[in-house]
Formats: sequence, structure tokens, C-alpha cells
Amino acid sequence: MKTRDGARVAPLGMGTWSLGDSKVTHKEEVTCLHEGLDAGLTMIDTAEIYGNGRSETLVGDVMAVRRQDAFLVSKIMPNHATFEGTQRHCRASLERLKTDYLDLYLLHWRGHIPLHETIEAMEKLKSDGLIRHWGVSNFDVEDMEEVVALTPHCACNQVLYNLRNRGTEFELLSKLEAHRIKAVACSPLGHDGSLLQHPICQTIAQEYQTPAGPATSAQIALAWVLRQENLVAIPRTSSREHMRENVLASDIHLSSSSLAALDAVFAPPKQKRSLEMI
Ligand code: NDP
Repeated sequence: MKTRDGARVAPLGMGTWSLGDSKVTHKEEVTCLHEGLDAGLTMIDTAEIYGNGRSETLVGDVMAVRRQDAFLVSKIMPNHATFEGTQRHCRASLERLKTDYLDLYLLHWRGHIPLHETIEAMEKLKSDGLIRHWGVSNFDVEDMEEVVALTPHCACNQVLYNLRNRGTEFELLSKLEAHRIKAVACSPLGHDGSLLQHPICQTIAQEYQTPAGPATSAQIALAWVLRQENLVAIPRTSSREHMRENVLASDIHLSSSSLAALDAVFAPPKQKRSLEMI
């Protein structure tokens, strides 16, 4: 995937919600992020709200030594996103992340502060060199229409997208593509792991091989999300073994019969649904 200014972002990135919450897993989580970067997973997604800054701090331990390898994303909470608050909270995120710029800064979800004020703040951060791009998250079709009426500069919309949550397929994903706004799929593995226990994922996994052996449910769930163009998927893991598995999902191309079998269980939307959020 290419951003508007030509920066390359791999279709598979890394989520970090809840990373950094436990000192016990800190080392393994840092190692996971390094392994992901080694494998070319450029996008690292964090947010000021994750662990009240603990996720950003952990990501910062990685950024301190290899900032140039990552496409670094963080998010601001809507109640902080006034003009002044956006400047202040972005600087606080940068400090925790041990870097002097973000590749992408997102408004985490729609709040009550006027959109034009947050957009103005984002543009100021951009012109000051603190962020390279800005975007939104959890914006439904109507919210996106408001954004594009105000500016052509929104780079992405990060939304829930996985086998169980595919409402965005009805309208939102195609609208984003039409406006050349990238989609980022959060919770691509279904957030809590239960999706990966579904028998259909396990059955389909048996039909595919990877260089490391038979495919897994997680790889099938990720390959399914990655079949979409114009999209980056950001699975989270605190396990090196899972990181290695996830990396190999990019090479799995699901056949039309596998896709049909998945559609039969996780039906595509037939009508507009409100945007689902976690
Ligand atoms: P995911 O859908 O990525 O699922 C994470 C779960 O899957 C964890 O329990 C993890 O456990 C497990 N897992 C990961 N890889 C494997 C594997 N190969 N085999 C088995 N289990 C696996 O959940 P998230 O909700 O965290 O979503 C990903 C990211 O998206 C977030 O971390 C965050 O950055 C972003 N996000 C953004 C939101 C927004 O509002 N903008 C909302 C939700 C998420 P383990 O650690 O043991 O591998």
C-alpha cells in the first residue's frame, strides 16, 4: 500500500492494545515487535488510551532503537481533540514513543469537538513536522462524508473488520477507496480469540500449507481480511510464535471455494448496518 506522499506500508502491520500492561510480558512483547519489523510489518498501531500510555511507552522502547523501520501510528481520544489539546496530547504521545514524529495520527472515534477544529489542529501538527499524515477511526459513512466535505487530506479510517464484523463491506470500504482514503482493519482476529476456535476456520486451515507447516485458523482469518485491497490489517500478539504465524498469513491466497464456505457461515452484509466498534 502507498500513502499519498508515496510512503510504502505493508498490508500486514501490528496492533498493540494491552501491550505493556504487564512487566512479566514486556520483554516478549518488545521482541515480538522487533520480529514483526524484521519481517517487514511496517505499521505499528498504538493509542494514548491503551493502558493509559503504557502501550505507547512499550512501543517507544522499540522506536528508540529503530524508528526508521516503522510506520508509526497513534490516536488521540475525542475529548482531547480541541486545537490546543491536540497539540499537547500529540507531544505527550511523542515523548512516550521516544520519537519526534508520527507517520499517522488518528482521531480515535467521533466526539463532540467540532471536526473542523480537530482537522485544523492536525494540519498544524503536519506543518510543524510532528506528524506526516492524519486520519480518523471508527467513522461511519456519514461521518466520512463530513470529513471529505471539509478536506481532501484525510489519509485513513481505522475500523473494525474481521470475519464476524463485516458490516463495512456494504458501503464504507468502497466509499473510502473512491476517496483514496486507506482502510485499516482493527481486531482482524476478532479481538478475543474466540473466532479462531470456530470450526469453519479450523476446517479451512487444513486445506492450506505454509513454509512452517499446515496453516492455522489465525492465518485463515488474516488471509481473509487481507484479500481486500486498499487495506492494512493490524493483528496484535504478545507471542513470538503467533507473530511468526501471522507473518506467513500474507502468502495465503484463499480460493473461491474457501471464500464461499466462509461466506456461508459469516454472511456478507445485505443492508446497511451501524458501524460496529469495540
Ligand atoms: P486482534 O483481533 O488482533 O486479536 C488479538 C488476539 O488474538 C489476542 O488474544 C492474541 O493473543 C490472539 N492472537 C494473535 N495472533 C494469534 C495467532 N497466530 N494464533 C492464535 N491467537 C492469536 O485484537 P485487537 O482488538 O487487539 O486488534 C488489533 C489491534 O487493532 C489492536 O491491538 C489495536 O492496535 C487496534 N484496535 C483499534 C481499535 C480502534 O478503535 N481504532 C479497536 C480495536 C483494536 P496472543 O497475544 O496470545 O497471540
